[in-house]
Amino acid sequence: MPGAYRFVSLQELAQAGKLRREWTTHTGRTYVKDFSQDYYKVKELLRNLPVDQRELYLRMYVEDLARKYPRYQFRYQIRRYNGYRFFIIRRGSIQDSGRYKEIPIYIDLLSGEIFVPRSYLRKQPKLVIAVIHYRISGLLAFLRAKFPAVAPEPQRPGRKHEGKAEKKKAVSKTVICPKCGRPGTLTKRWVISGDGKKRYYWYVGHKKNGKIKWCYIGKYLPPSLAKVAKELGLK
Ligand SMILES: [Zn+2]
Repeated sequence: MPGAYRFVSLQELAQAGKLRREWTTHTGRTYVKDFSQDYYKVKELLRNLPVDQRELYLRMYVEDLARKYPRYQFRYQIRRYNGYRFFIIRRGSIQDSGRYKEIPIYIDLLSGEIFVPRSYLRKQPKLVIAVIHYRISGLLAFLRAKFPAVAPEPQRPGRKHEGKAEKKKAVSKTVICPKCGRPGTLTKRWVISGDGKKRYYWYVGHKKNGKIKWCYIGKYLPPSLAKVAKELGLK
């Protein structure tokens, strides 16, 4: 039923990378999330792919979404406007489109830029920005999983969220890495996930030629390392 959609002109599209998300929790705390970094990373990842593959991977991403969240009826379309080729991710039911429940996200297949129609932003800014935020962080996670070599996790371990004392102790403690069997430093690494929550994962760092190579251990430590982490006050 693609004919049922109304298409907007290019002037009506707002670039998604410049948006900021603000939300208040039930406790009254307000959060602001600037997702421009993720945005540019997604753009870069898309541009690293040959043009025909950009479409292929975006399709895989939407098919994944549709399987995971059937109630949102995710689907995609490819449309041309004045020589631009857009991959459009749609969400919501066709019947709801008149009530702005459907939120289309336009991805320029050539530049990798992501847009949203301004009319949607005006009507429901919070919902629309939240959806863009989910799409961008979701796309980033998806592309990272597909291309781990070109898109390693960006945050350095042991920064910002860790206390100084913990960090000091962590670097002084050597463990045997369960991944590669070499000695290394057990470190807790914090990431902000797509839903804006802070989560941590365990890594073992190995020094090599002045650089540190990180082995990913995961959310949970094997029992031997869990004991070490406890001793270090990392848990
Ligand atoms: Zn290792």
